[in-house]
Amino acid sequence: MSLTIYLDGKYVPEEQAVVSVFDHGLLYGDGIFEGIRAYHNRVFKLQDHLVRLYESARTLAMEIPISIEEMQEVVLETLRRNNLRDAYIRLVVTRGKGDLGLDPRKCPRPTIFCIAASIQLYPEELYEKGLEMITVATRRNVPEACNPRVKSLNYLNNIYAKMEANLAGVPEAIMLNQEGYVAEATGDNIFLVKNGKLITPPIHVGMLEGVTRNAVMDLARERGIEVIEKVFTRHDVYISDECFLTGTAAELIPCVRVDGRAIGNGQPGPVFKELLGDFRELTKVDGPVIFE
Ligand code: PMP
Repeated sequence: MSLTIYLDGKYVPEEQAVVSVFDHGLLYGDGIFEGIRAYHNRVFKLQDHLVRLYESARTLAMEIPISIEEMQEVVLETLRRNNLRDAYIRLVVTRGKGDLGLDPRKCPRPTIFCIAASIQLYPEELYEKGLEMITVATRRNVPEACNPRVKSLNYLNNIYAKMEANLAGVPEAIMLNQEGYVAEATGDNIFLVKNGKLITPPIHVGMLEGVTRNAVMDLARERGIEVIEKVFTRHDVYISDECFLTGTAAELIPCVRVDGRAIGNGQPGPVFKELLGDFRELTKVDGPVIFE
């Protein structure tokens, strides 16, 4: 079945949703995006995603030609046109069509597209058994260069890390920053639980400020769990009671083994389970409604 895609002001069948080979998003990774999820006829944390998108655009000094309110409507209307109430949404803004040089001034108009597809759920088994990770040699980009806080189309750094995990036969990788502190996984933020407290790296370590991360920190505080943002090393991961990842696609996923060491008792922990339950409840009530 063909999807209906939003592309530069029009809703078109996917066969017609084509972007120029001169688009600098394709030629240079010059663009930004969001991965968003809809649950139960609502778009989860849509405002947070849109704010991050428009903030990413500021660092690229890219003027998005439509307002944040209009962008919200693009997301909702794309879902409606595909009759989707539970979905994965990919919203992309590139620098647009230019010439073969990399000068962004040669690109007069950004390209905007929005894809809403039915969601590929991770097997429930993963949430019950947990996954294994290794620390990889590829370091997270330094904030002084391609800042990981900007959700840009430059994912090569993360792809290198994913390739290392693939070679080792595990599904995920822990990426460290230049100083050797834990930054994040290839497409997810990382949390530890130690002595009942929730620990996650601070943003300045060099990572994406995840929407799910912020939601989970709020949920933990509502439960009276102390949340600490501090830098930590692999040693802290190995001696933690629990470890889990957060991200739009993965939600909260437990990690039970890192670099060959069992985390805690090698099973998903109680804090993870409580927070996953809270998170799934929140997805029922948060965000704008798609079909009234
Ligand atoms: N880090 C990276 C590198 C990511 O790509 C993602 C997914 N967007 C995340 C963290 C998690 O962010 P969010 O919770 O906003 O999906």
